[in-house]
Amino acid sequence: MLRAMAFDLLISGAGPAGLCLARALSGNGMTIGLVDQLPQAALADPPFDGREIALTQRSAQTLRELGLWQRIEAFDAAALSPLRDARVLNGGSPAAMVIGHGLTASSELGWLVSNHLIRRAAFDAVQAAATEHGDITLLTGQAITSVRCEDDAARVTLADGSRHEARLLVAADSRFSATRRAVGIGASQHDFGRTMLVCQMTLAQPHEHAAWEWFDHGQTLALLPMNNDPATGAHRASVVLTLPHQQIEPLLALDEATFGAEMTQRFHGRLGAMRLASTRHAYPLVGVYPHQMVARRFACIGDAAVGMHPVTAHGFNFGLLSVQALAGKLRAAHAAGADIASPALLGRYERQHRLATRPLYEATRVIAQLYTAESPPARLLREAALRVGERVQPFKRMVAASLTG
Ligand SMILES: Cc1cc2nc3c(=O)[nH]c(=O)nc-3n(C[C@H](O)[C@H](O)[C@H](O)COP(=O)(O)OP(=O)(O)OC[C@H]3O[C@@H](n4cnc5c(N)ncnc54)[C@H](O)[C@@H]3O)c2cc1C
Repeated sequence: MLRAMAFDLLISGAGPAGLCLARALSGNGMTIGLVDQLPQAALADPPFDGREIALTQRSAQTLRELGLWQRIEAFDAAALSPLRDARVLNGGSPAAMVIGHGLTASSELGWLVSNHLIRRAAFDAVQAAATEHGDITLLTGQAITSVRCEDDAARVTLADGSRHEARLLVAADSRFSATRRAVGIGASQHDFGRTMLVCQMTLAQPHEHAAWEWFDHGQTLALLPMNNDPATGAHRASVVLTLPHQQIEPLLALDEATFGAEMTQRFHGRLGAMRLASTRHAYPLVGVYPHQMVARRFACIGDAAVGMHPVTAHGFNFGLLSVQALAGKLRAAHAAGADIASPALLGRYERQHRLATRPLYEATRVIAQLYTAESPPARLLREAALRVGERVQPFKRMVAASLTG
């Protein structure tokens, strides 16, 4: 007989967002269940997945408060790379819009950290919290197969047939959330028809901790600066190439030397010779915004609440905002002895998170479309936009503020 459990909160998805929410709520008197389809070993030590996550200063602060930052530093002292400046380039034009850290009060705009290290640190922090407070139960290696959200509780069945209930069910199971779908919430999806190839490379020339977003003809390139390799001193960066999918596939199959030469040439040799330093990973680009973020005894966080195009580097930053917004409301309601899933509370959470995310979600969609369009008017328009942007200090300050969070 499989044991049925009742929780205050059941989180579907132990990715970065789900883990951070569990960590943020542990020790506050609520019982928390955390479900993931992956086995525990894969969650404890996730493999490198190519993603280098640009974190705002605000997100960095949240990760410090949750104890992730210190863990990442302990795993690898070179893992947290400062992002000093950002350069936006268009085609072969020498004009660039430069967003420098001098526009802010900090010595860097933000930080870059590998996604798998964020996941590993978050899992470690959750396990430590579970040991300290005894309030988190991990249900790993299985997905939720059915969901019923009723007036008194949300009830779920897992793949092993076990049934559990919670006062609040939270979906944190990716932008294509099966849990959100099972609750009956649809989403607007925008398929950009492009795929992103990401990998780490060494560079012959230093990057000076500047990120590049280069809207070149027929391709979009990005360079995310990493700390030098501590063992060899080599300059390192995460490199991102966006193309139609059929053009990405052959690049994934190239041998290392040919791939290095290909990327050096795609970057017009501006950073000297580039060499592959990791596995290569491909991500199809689909933006997702659900029609609702909450329902009866149900809420979405992380990518399940907003699935961003990575070009403005805000997916996980928004994920952390959702964690903060929901966790704050749940803690206050629980401390006051109120229902943690009241329609009023969930409505306030949804309004707050929509307001924080919808404008940039829509702006990112427009930017991604304008900057990949190849028609002559589109090229002229973006060249003009960059030149104007470069001269308008308040605009640059606004972009810098968005990058620092
Ligand atoms: C190439 C790339 C670059 C990016 N760069 C940045 C950046 O610079 N800055 C930034 O802020 N963001 C960036 N992002 C976005 C960031 O990676 C995501 O926002 C973040 O990983 C989302 O975390 P999450 O926990 O919401 O979802 P996910 O990471 O998708 O995790 C979901 C979890 O749910 C589990 N799961 C899925 N389905 C089920 C199910 N049915 N049942 C149970 N469990 C399930 C999965 O196993 C997984 O563990 C980037 C994304 C990509 C693809």
